[in-house]
Amino acid sequence: MNVADSELIEGILQKEGFLQAESINDASAIFINTCAVRDHAEAKVHSRLGNFNRIKKEKPDVIIGMLGCMAQNLKDEILENKPYVDIVLGPDSYRKLPNLINNRLKDQKHIVDTKLSRFEVYDGLFPSRKEGINAWVSIMRGCDKFCTFCIVPFTRGRERSRSPESIVQEIEQAISNGFVEITLLGQNVNSYKFNGFDFTDLLLEVSKISGLERLRYTSPHPSDVNERLLQIMADTPNICNSIHFPLQAGSNKILKRMNRTYTKDHFLHYAQMIRDIIPGVGISTDIIVGFPGETEEDFQETLDVMDQIKFDSAFTFKYSSRPYTKAIEYDDHINEDIKQERLERLIELQKEHTLIRNQELVGETVKVLVEKESKKSDKYWSGRTDSNKWVIFEKGKVNVKEIIPVRITAAHGVTLRGQIEGN
Ligand code: SAH
Ligand code: SF4
Repeated sequence: MNVADSELIEGILQKEGFLQAESINDASAIFINTCAVRDHAEAKVHSRLGNFNRIKKEKPDVIIGMLGCMAQNLKDEILENKPYVDIVLGPDSYRKLPNLINNRLKDQKHIVDTKLSRFEVYDGLFPSRKEGINAWVSIMRGCDKFCTFCIVPFTRGRERSRSPESIVQEIEQAISNGFVEITLLGQNVNSYKFNGFDFTDLLLEVSKISGLERLRYTSPHPSDVNERLLQIMADTPNICNSIHFPLQAGSNKILKRMNRTYTKDHFLHYAQMIRDIIPGVGISTDIIVGFPGETEEDFQETLDVMDQIKFDSAFTFKYSSRPYTKAIEYDDHINEDIKQERLERLIELQKEHTLIRNQELVGETVKVLVEKESKKSDKYWSGRTDSNKWVIFEKGKVNVKEIIPVRITAAHGVTLRGQIEGN
């Protein structure tokens, strides 16, 4: 999401004649786009801001700006403790950046704009994209779900969707610029709604764009996944057989306390439906350990759901208390050691499951999009399967951006090894 927002910001600045500096030392303005979802993300930004401060001490005219969710969340603290930060802009204020830079050049006052909008979707602006395979396309912004652990509804504001016309136009442009894969993005991507046109309608519409080889999306909310969506995914060849299906926790008590709006059974039922309807589907998830009040039994239920579903991959987090959220008020927070110990057990289990899922592919021939040279050797390509797994294989005569049949020969950990069919 932040990569997409940074590309949008760069697009806004380029349109007004600003250019990207060759290196941070050549820059006359430095912006950091921030995430507030966990404490760890914020800590990284604080440390980076410290580096910027050192640059500013040498070159006092450099403009320093903090953009995005942390700006929204921590503006007062920044103004008080980090006076070297000149511009603080929330996620709905990026359009103002060129003007603010010009104002800042004229006048030495700090500039803060963190007003959230009910309408801003950045229509009509084209992000400046870097790599040539996958283009991130934001289709909706904000979140109305208010999970009790999550700061996003407070930093990003209310849900709003872009018009299908502007989304299609942006995708057509990205394809004419050489991108072959599109990932539709939103905090709750499948809550997309524009004048009665829903997420599945949009997915189908986008899949028809000529030249689009692969279509992905993230992050859907489990409560808004339905049979029609899954059926369209199964029936449409360029919509990838891959779904992010964020569990968060396995026990009904914790799910309720998280305000996740589904139960363990609902989740299991839909996970099964995903596997039944979409052959060869890859399912990834997000899981939080150590949410307030999580007992060992509750945690076991998370492991139990994992055992039943055997996700292909998982993003795993220790619960982090966030300001404004309801969960911060709970009086039964879990101590750090227990969180750490649970996280380690969870990661171990997920490793086993990833290996099991990957080994199922050994001997199969799958379609792989050639994406880049392997980090290990210049004789190998790396590419992704439709189900979102990385495969490494000898280069042969194929090129980047081609979709080719690869026979999977081995599965070690998260990466697959393969051989181009016919080679
Ligand atoms: N809208 C998406 C998630 C966006 S945030 C969804 O509902 O699934 C991405 C992930 O960060 C979440 O799925 C959750 O697992 C994690 N996360 C969010 N807030 C967190 C917190 N306070 N502590 C730990 N992990 C958190
Ligand atoms: Fe956060 Fe929940 Fe909204 Fe996802 S659905 S962004 S976890 S509040």
